[in-house]
Amino acid sequence: MEFDTTLAEAWVRATAAAVEQEQQRLTELDSAIGDGDHGSNLQRGFTAVLTALDGLDPAGPGEVLSRTGSTLISKVGGASGPLYGKAFRALGSALPGPAGPAALGEALAAGLQAVRDLGRAEPGDKTIVDAWTPALAAYRAAVADGADLPRAAAAAADAAGQGALDTVPLQARKGRASYLGPRSVGHQDPGATSTALLFRALAEVTAH
Ligand code: ADP
Ligand code: MG
Repeated sequence: MEFDTTLAEAWVRATAAAVEQEQQRLTELDSAIGDGDHGSNLQRGFTAVLTALDGLDPAGPGEVLSRTGSTLISKVGGASGPLYGKAFRALGSALPGPAGPAALGEALAAGLQAVRDLGRAEPGDKTIVDAWTPALAAYRAAVADGADLPRAAAAAADAAGQGALDTVPLQARKGRASYLGPRSVGHQDPGATSTALLFRALAEVTAH
């Protein structure tokens, strides 16, 4: 199986559906350690993404992902908009045409790098990075083990979900939650949680 235009579009649409379904929960998590807008931020962004995709006749998976990123940047005011926006644009640049499992892994690495270049978060800072980093590691380990795309994506999704859970005991060192200092401990990070949705959506659309 290759990651092609159809799969890219299915991934973004599945992510939008997951955001819609989990909007309330993302907002609740952000109410505990932020300003309570993470669910509505992403909801607004991905609603605009769906509209943008409806009018697109993409030449490759990269165009789908780049357009997704640009739309998120222009529609989401919170920290997560530029971070996910840059990540999707990096994914898009890395995937001009259909890609096998290894090439998709490199694209996912470029996405993480974009988040880190912009946000300067390290693993353990209680951010998106804490779900994306283990997801990427699990994805790469699976591919190195000979896994196909569905298996690698499933491994990544599981690791991202665990990574999000593992943010609970962390103290936030980036973003709004860092203003709380030690009071950010004991809550799951909203952005790591939405990243887990992103990887779960990838696993869903690639599952055979
Ligand atoms: P805002 O914080 O502006 O209200 P959101 O609520 O949409 O934006 O997103 C908050 C999430 O963004 C946090 O839970 C965290 O995961 C993520 N985040 C914030 N700052 C950074 C950063 N510097 N690097 C990576 N992720 C970050
Ligand atoms: Mg917020």
